[in-house]
Amino acid sequence: MSLERQEPQHPRGHFPEMTDREALVSKLADGFSKGGIRHRRRAHFMRSLSWTVAIRIAVALRRFTDAMLAVALFVVLSPLLLLLLILAIVSGGGLKQKPRLGRWATHFGMYEFYFPESSSFSALNILKRLPTVLNILKGDMSFIGPRAVAPDEILGEERTAWKRYNLRPGLLSLWWLRKRANIAYSNEVGLDMEYVDTNSLWGDLGIAARAVPAVFLGGQASVAPPKLHFLGVTIDNLTMAEASEQITEMAKGNASSQVSFVNADCVNIAFSDNDYKAVLDKSQLVLADGIGVRLAGSILNQNVRENINGTDMLPFLCAAAEQAGVSMYLLGGRPGIADGAAEWIAQRYPQMKMAGYRNGYFSDEEEPQVLEAIKQSGADILLVALGAPRQEKWIAANKLASGAKVSIGVGGLLDFYSGRIPRAPVWMRELGMEWFYRFWQEPRRMWRRYFVGNAVFLFRVATERMHTKGSARTGGIAS
Ligand code: UDP
Repeated sequence: MSLERQEPQHPRGHFPEMTDREALVSKLADGFSKGGIRHRRRAHFMRSLSWTVAIRIAVALRRFTDAMLAVALFVVLSPLLLLLLILAIVSGGGLKQKPRLGRWATHFGMYEFYFPESSSFSALNILKRLPTVLNILKGDMSFIGPRAVAPDEILGEERTAWKRYNLRPGLLSLWWLRKRANIAYSNEVGLDMEYVDTNSLWGDLGIAARAVPAVFLGGQASVAPPKLHFLGVTIDNLTMAEASEQITEMAKGNASSQVSFVNADCVNIAFSDNDYKAVLDKSQLVLADGIGVRLAGSILNQNVRENINGTDMLPFLCAAAEQAGVSMYLLGGRPGIADGAAEWIAQRYPQMKMAGYRNGYFSDEEEPQVLEAIKQSGADILLVALGAPRQEKWIAANKLASGAKVSIGVGGLLDFYSGRIPRAPVWMRELGMEWFYRFWQEPRRMWRRYFVGNAVFLFRVATERMHTKGSARTGGIAS
């Protein structure tokens, strides 16, 4: 055997790395030569110039489209605008200019009609924003953009303020859209920033497209009763903020309270299940969940203030619980689901006390141990995800034994936060179509609930409406 050292064979001949190095050195020398530096500067300048020109063209195109649409709208609306102006003046109001900050934080007056509440034309206040088309014509505003803010609302020194003031404020904004759909749970400034950060032509077209059905969705109710009565179920007509505040107060107290969410399906169940209905009647809070209940509200002339569901409420509740120092226990879902949701919470609300969690598949024999574990954990808030109406009945039967101060039936919430079931995209929720997304995910389980259930629900609501109208008429004749 030969012990002679073998020379490594290089596929590209000898010392190829030397050739590479020489080539690199010569390239660098070229690059740093006077000519090379000049060439790079020129290329850099041309790149910046083309970006600047492209941005300017995009801004000019947007302004041009806004102006053209505004002219067309103004021509079409001018007879109506004139009529409204005359009515506003006759009723003691008129056209006012609200101080607002526009692009580059310049002050401008946003035109609005004003009809005094005491006048017989006060209902026309829903059209008060029509003269804003003049601001778009003048270039103070766009059709779509961040909200037009009052001069003292957002200080110029705030970092985010500068970003928003790069754009003209819009007649339509993300905030307006979400408010119409009753899912405006992020704060106004947050939604403005979401718009500014994701601003694109497609985004604007999306807002414009969603604005059409949003107009018909109706928006936040200005006059709404404190309690709603639908098909025998009584609902507390609260906003998300009020509901999470009340639940946190319950968690700090000493009673064993129950909170239930009701959607159209729950109202249907309560129609034929007296035990479930009795549990809802005894719940300390019953909250309106979903577009079905919202629609019923409009049909029955009982405006629902906000669409509140456990899934949207969880972040608010965790933030409030974190601040109040109250703890939470998660019960329900398949094995691994409650753990996943607990992890989601721990990542975002690290100071919130997680008392414990466990899956929702246990036998009647195991139930005492489950209750004992919750009691031992000292949980203040207990989220129970076993599906309606089972979870509501379970809470009613076991809330004392669990020791929790407030127990809430939350349906599929843990599945969403563990990531097992994805939540509908925001644009679908804005359109009140989350139910369709749920159907799409589990068509076999959900078709009956949504297609048959919703039809039955609306039929019952329509029947109730006819009865209430009829009895109101009879009442009128009698009195
Ligand atoms: N579930 C449970 N134990 C059971 C049956 C169901 O923990 O014995 C869970 C199920 O895994 C799911 C939740 O209960 O996470 C029900 O979710 P669904 O979306 O059906 O709730 P609903 O909308 O019917 O209230």
